[in-house]
Amino acid sequence: MSTRRRFISIFPLAGVSLLAACSEKSTPPPPAAAAAPAVASVPQAVPAATPGQTASSPAGAPATAGAGPMVEAGDAQALALGYVDDVAKVDKAKYPAYTAGQACANCALYTGKPGDAAGPCPLYAGKQVSAKGWCSGYNKKV
Ligand code: SF4
Repeated sequence: MSTRRRFISIFPLAGVSLLAACSEKSTPPPPAAAAAPAVASVPQAVPAATPGQTASSPAGAPATAGAGPMVEAGDAQALALGYVDDVAKVDKAKYPAYTAGQACANCALYTGKPGDAAGPCPLYAGKQVSAKGWCSGYNKKV
């Protein structure tokens, strides 16, 4: 009797252990194999979309799906912060803090990738700013 009870108590544990051991060996390869193509496909989609978007129009043009539209000149936040899509348009009299070389591309708030013509800025939620743009919220990227 004690052998039978012992068998009954050990058998489920052994089965669970065996399943766990088998699933640990077979589980890692599929996620690793599935993750590699997914990671590789994301960077390909973003750069491909950005050049096409900026080639059509630097500002005000609808951006790629998921990237958000460009900040338009008439945007209330843009007007409040003096945003321009090209630093050549900065009103230097109104914004004396602007100095040559400042642009969204080297602003700490700009989250676009290096080389992209446009990218997100948290001051304009859900929208993109031009890498060549500027606003009074500029903060030099360290
Ligand atoms: Fe460009 Fe920086 Fe102004 Fe955003 S805060 S619009 S990144 S200058």
